[in-house]
Amino acid sequence: MTDPDATAEGLAEGDAPELPADLDAVREALVEWYEADHRDFPWRRTEEPYEVLVSEVMSQQTQLDRVVPAWADFLDEWPTTADLAAADRGDVVAFWSAHSLGYNNRAKYLHEAAEQIEGDYGGEFPESPDELEELMGVGPYTANAVASFAFNNGDAVVDTNVKRVLHRAFAVPDDDSAFERVASRVMPAGESRVWNNAVMELGGVACGTTPRCDEAGCPWRGRCHAYETGDFTAPDVPEQPSFEGSRRQFRGRVVRALGEYDELALDELGPRIRVDYAPDGEYGREWLRGLVDDLADDGLVAVDEGADGPVVRLAD
Ligand code: SF4
Repeated sequence: MTDPDATAEGLAEGDAPELPADLDAVREALVEWYEADHRDFPWRRTEEPYEVLVSEVMSQQTQLDRVVPAWADFLDEWPTTADLAAADRGDVVAFWSAHSLGYNNRAKYLHEAAEQIEGDYGGEFPESPDELEELMGVGPYTANAVASFAFNNGDAVVDTNVKRVLHRAFAVPDDDSAFERVASRVMPAGESRVWNNAVMELGGVACGTTPRCDEAGCPWRGRCHAYETGDFTAPDVPEQPSFEGSRRQFRGRVVRALGEYDELALDELGPRIRVDYAPDGEYGREWLRGLVDDLADDGLVAVDEGADGPVVRLAD
């Protein structure tokens, strides 16, 4: 089902064939999933723009587990932009090298950005992505991240992870402007901090190159195009990732079939998800019952024990 507001808000027709109509529910489900559990990076606990900026600059080309101690050490050494601006640039570069953070220019730029904050902005960070881009070494992605995470004032972040999520969930075509438009459309207005964290977490722990839809309890399984169709390719995943079996694909087909019919008895559902379904065969009622029971355990479907046998429907 397409979003009736989509065209009005600037989405060209066909850009987002699967954008759901119940976007508020889609948003809430993701934010709830994120808030229930997420990786606890220390910079997620701060809203200090300087601390966020340091984490973003360090994370650009360095693995996050290496960034965690470097970030803490850096802020011990230079806790504020004033401290960093007053530092000797050579010391900042030496710190960068000693922590294997790569590209020493980023240390120089960070130092220069601190000087700008102190010299040009009176020690106060600007709060909008456009103004933040004026800082040395701060490109559109970093500016938007700082605006979001420090000031809750950013646009939707679009990186490789986010593109993969949007492509799989909403069948967004592999086109940068389509990704930008859909990402902005899906983000709840004024919620860039939690939203960008949540989408990036989804791309990082659930919707990776090999997706972990069920294991990670992805909140979008009931609406996800890839989950329904079994096609998990993405712009950065051109080949179908291999799974532990095809069970995931059959689960997806059950969800899709039940999206088309209010409810189905097992023997009505079976032939809709596999052509070789035979009630008493290897892939028959017993196999299907196991599949739908798993889906029921995950809260995706409900099974009613009718007089003529179990009837399956999507969970409320
Ligand atoms: S259901 Fe799977 S493929 Fe779809 S968004 Fe979630 S993790 Fe990604």
